[in-house]
Amino acid sequence: MKGLLITIDGPSGSGKSTVSRRLAERLDYTYVDTGALYRAVALFALSEGCAPDDDSRLAEICKHLVLRFENSSKGPILYANGDDITERIRTPEISMAASAVSARSVVREYLLNVQREMGKGGRAVFEGRDMGTVVFPEADIKFYLDADLETRALRRYKELAPDHAATSLDEVGEAMKKRDGDDSSRALAPLKPAHDAIIIDSTLLGIDQVVETMLGHVRVHTK
Ligand code: C5P
Repeated sequence: MKGLLITIDGPSGSGKSTVSRRLAERLDYTYVDTGALYRAVALFALSEGCAPDDDSRLAEICKHLVLRFENSSKGPILYANGDDITERIRTPEISMAASAVSARSVVREYLLNVQREMGKGGRAVFEGRDMGTVVFPEADIKFYLDADLETRALRRYKELAPDHAATSLDEVGEAMKKRDGDDSSRALAPLKPAHDAIIIDSTLLGIDQVVETMLGHVRVHTK
């Protein structure tokens, strides 16, 4: 089968990460979680006390940040300047900070190059918000995965680490609504389906059904 570049965009909790990872596994492709890259920038901004709209400090942070994914049996590990930050970027605080720094052009421009470099070889599934619209407008297949807000909030709530157990489902839903609203309404690379994206609503579909649907499109494309 010819190697493709596949993009999967969509809001948080739509099932993008699990689906993207499984699709990549089934095709023996590389999986790239681009949200993790924004989270990495947010982690450095927060730890250095940099405001999410301080462009000159954000530019400095990006200039000194080397991001690299490495595969492991537990999934991809993200290294920032040689340190494994995979777990540290998965907190609600980092989610909101990632959304804030992702609205800044210095950050998007820096990560645009990082992502395109990672995609050079093809045979990859890229997951994010603007993969099909901005980063890879020439991608071979573009998917946009969506689901009802309640369904997405419930999925995210169930994934929460035990140390965030005090957070209620309503709080998760509200934070998600705010983040998606910000991501969709920002001026730069807003979250939206590419004009040629295949839209899949996962509200009533299980992971396997979504992956099978996508594989069906891949087969048609590679015939
Ligand atoms: O996908 P994830 O929830 O990890 O993404 C964190 C944040 O990073 C998103 O809310 C969004 O603001 C930003 N992001 C982005 N473009 C991408 C991927 C993520 O703006 N391609």
